[in-house]
Amino acid sequence: MPPSPVSQDDLVRLRRTLHAEPEVGLDLPDTQRALLRELEGLPLEIVPGRRCSSITAVLRATDRAAADVPAVLLRADMDALPVSEPAGEEFASRRAGAMHACGHDLHMTMLVGAARMLCERRAELAGDVVLMFQPGEEGWGGASIMIEEGVLDAAGPRVSAAFGMHVMTGDRRPARFGFRHGTAMAGASALTATIRGCGGHGSAPHLASDPVTTAAETVLALQSAVTREFDVLDPVVVTVGSLHAGTKRNIIPDDARFEATVRCFSPEARDRAAEILPALTAGVAAAHRQRAEVEYVHEFPPLVNDDAETRAALAAAETLFDPAAIEVLPRPKTASEDFAEVLERVPGTFVFVDATPAAGSEYNHSPRAVYDEAVLADGARLYAEFALHRLRMLREPSPAAES
Ligand SMILES: [Zn+2]
Repeated sequence: MPPSPVSQDDLVRLRRTLHAEPEVGLDLPDTQRALLRELEGLPLEIVPGRRCSSITAVLRATDRAAADVPAVLLRADMDALPVSEPAGEEFASRRAGAMHACGHDLHMTMLVGAARMLCERRAELAGDVVLMFQPGEEGWGGASIMIEEGVLDAAGPRVSAAFGMHVMTGDRRPARFGFRHGTAMAGASALTATIRGCGGHGSAPHLASDPVTTAAETVLALQSAVTREFDVLDPVVVTVGSLHAGTKRNIIPDDARFEATVRCFSPEARDRAAEILPALTAGVAAAHRQRAEVEYVHEFPPLVNDDAETRAALAAAETLFDPAAIEVLPRPKTASEDFAEVLERVPGTFVFVDATPAAGSEYNHSPRAVYDEAVLADGARLYAEFALHRLRMLREPSPAAES
């Protein structure tokens, strides 16, 4: 193998630069500028996003002998969280109310490192690589916007496989890289309901139509539905986290309103919840001669890893790392992630990287979350190796590997 064109020191420098100037949401002009500077001079076809500050960069294989040159996609998210970082580290956030508390600064750094490695090893590429730098992962729909703007077809033909990684801290694993077959992260949907009754005097509920008792009954009916309507081995969680009605104890209000989050681990459960839970909410209100206005929004699909792609990623990792650094995770994570939007459209896999420092840390999203920078070089190598390995497989499909 040729010497690596990226040094750990260089990756740490870039990570700290990005960490100090975090931006939240879909519009991340400074982050985009910093990345473009890092990619300058590399033989990439770069397309900035139109509706967000994404970067799509295509590295073309030099070997274009095949009729259809395949392509794979590597993704890193770019956005920070609306969290204030306590002072301490010399590279701590210089922006009040913004912090890379979820480690997306590490993802960008690893993908820049991979871009440099792949450019250096361009002659070995058996196809094209699409680098997807995505803003707005934290509930802003950034992946969907990039998909609408064509990231999956940026190389020409649709990418055959997609690969992403996420650093985790504060939940130490025995191995650095965690792979997972099947569902790896939960899907999330939001149910918002307004129960329309008819207000009146608290002493004479028969002259009114009380939405408060209906709302209370609905909250419990939703919990019953979770246990009666869904397979216990394909679990669903419903939590009513917000419930509001009325102004004073002796006044029956006109309306009651609640919001619930719904988590699930399969597309089937996601679709079934979308059918059952709004109907139940409307039905309880109707039973009391009231009306429920229900809004049901899918926020994140469950993130489902493709088996063959996960095996391919494992095989790539095994060429780089000691077996002790690799683990197959027995259970999914309950958090959500919008790379799931990509994996709904193309097969791929999402890998967890344990970046808990030796001294420990609070979990991702905490203002005190800290990440071990020692993962940067290995993360960059894994991104690059996945692309090299997977494209080689696409060029010379082996029946065993593709089964
Ligand atoms: Zn994240």
